Amino acid sequence: MEYAPAPQSADHVRLEDRYGAFVDGAFRDTDEYFPSINPATEETIAEVGLADEAVVDEAVGAARTAYESHWRDLPGKERAKYIYRIGRMIKEKSREFAVLESMDGGKPIRESRDMDIPLVAAHFFHYAGWADKLEYALPGPGRPHSLGVCGQIIPWNFPLLMAAWKLAPALATGNTVVLKPAETTPLTALKLAEVMQEAGLPPGVVNIVQGAGEVGSALVEHPDVDKIAFTGSTEVGKHIQKQLAGTKKRLTLELGGKGANIVFEDAPIDQAVEGIVDGIYFNQGHVCCAGSRLLVQESVAEEVTRKLRDRIATLRVGDPLDKNTDIGAINSKQQLEKIRRLVDVGEREGADKFQPECDLPDDGFWFPPTFFTNVTQSHRIAQEEIFGPVLSVTTFRTPEEAVERANNTEYGLASGIWSDKGSKLFSISQALKSGVIWGNTYNKFDPASPFGGYKESGFGREGGVHGLLPYLERPSQSWQAQTPTNGSPSTRPASSTSAGTSPEPKADDT
Ligand code: NDP
Repeated sequence: MEYAPAPQSADHVRLEDRYGAFVDGAFRDTDEYFPSINPATEETIAEVGLADEAVVDEAVGAARTAYESHWRDLPGKERAKYIYRIGRMIKEKSREFAVLESMDGGKPIRESRDMDIPLVAAHFFHYAGWADKLEYALPGPGRPHSLGVCGQIIPWNFPLLMAAWKLAPALATGNTVVLKPAETTPLTALKLAEVMQEAGLPPGVVNIVQGAGEVGSALVEHPDVDKIAFTGSTEVGKHIQKQLAGTKKRLTLELGGKGANIVFEDAPIDQAVEGIVDGIYFNQGHVCCAGSRLLVQESVAEEVTRKLRDRIATLRVGDPLDKNTDIGAINSKQQLEKIRRLVDVGEREGADKFQPECDLPDDGFWFPPTFFTNVTQSHRIAQEEIFGPVLSVTTFRTPEEAVERANNTEYGLASGIWSDKGSKLFSISQALKSGVIWGNTYNKFDPASPFGGYKESGFGREGGVHGLLPYLERPSQSWQAQTPTNGSPSTRPASSTSAGTSPEPKADDT
């Protein structure tokens, strides 16, 4: 079917040509600037101030002053007013945020408009609600109290959403923040800084420093930071954990994944195919919890791959600002090269590649939806995180084999199970080593629901009551969540850990 173009106008996005670092409530000049480019056109959108060590130091100093002079002592209900206000203003400016997110990061406008930005606002609303209820959230002797200055480092795949996941609980619990967005997607965080100014958030409570890994590293090493919250690759996460070993700084890590999407023969196949597509091609596959390994029961493997082939032939790759686009631009040239490299490895190792015919734009960074069959467990494409729209398909015969294959990875972030039988969903999910498990759906997020990993996918949880814990000093380590009155089972949240003592979450942590 031919679609007429349905472009979303970018006219209402108000942008400065240049943004400095956001320190102590104001944008300040920096010595150097770097361009933030649109990955769909390779054009510069705006220039952004590169923070050096002195700027990071200034930002941490501003956060410390704001923390000690008022923010930590502000009653929760007063903090909540600011956080609600920020949430409301994001909703009011949601279209501008969505368009800018798609321009800066390459994701389809349908996703930034319908998923990223509504979830951003929802996170602020959710945690605003917790700010004056911390004692109820964390029962036990003594009052829970904040940690101090938090350094937060986020990746480029969900720039504003990752900022919201980090900022909202930190502010609700009375901490102040220095945030380091990814170098390729700095812009929506800077618009958020404008919102914070407009919302009257006291200067220094949130500071934003921009630049590449060195800026994050300077933040990690700063002696006056009390906690680091990092989302990004396992490689950098391990490095940070080593840097912090032996210090008193708290650490939470949200790292990579290689999610297994398991389709049983009794699953509703057409729905499962939609779930497979959503699991791997959503956000160009730049998703830590992507269902990048499809495990399909042998008896339905031929039917599933045939339907998947037909379905991905209908996906539209192209302009992220077109409302009909399913797959937008790859976030950066560097990421495109990584995807191409691993796809070449897959072919060299003997897997069979399928890619539909599609016309890709001349400028910008693009990769068509792809899947591999004839994949074995030892193939690199079955083990390594590609972080692109590339799926590896393997088969299994029995539920036991499915579990063994699904758990045969160094990661443990997310999985999906597709089956008509509720009992099978429950028994398989008990056996999977994943922080998040979806049943007959994939990639569903909610601010009230905790998210985080096992094994090399990190530790600590974001979202819900669990997401408060990494930002609070608990008066008693014997704290245990009470059974909620809605009858759902009691949970024991994974703790944030001091660096160097990082136990893997136990089975009951999920
Ligand atoms: P990176 O680990 O390279 O970067 C993440 C952030 O850390 C960026 O802001 C980056 O800066 C910064 N950084 C890089 N090096 C250092 C360092 N030495 N010290 C401190 N900060 C540093 O990951 P990507 O940005 O490439 O993101 C993709 C990865 O993130 C994937 O592996 C994905 O699975 C994972 N991820 C995990 C999520 C989760 O919740 N578990 C969610 C989203 C992504 P810069 O980019 O400017 O160089």
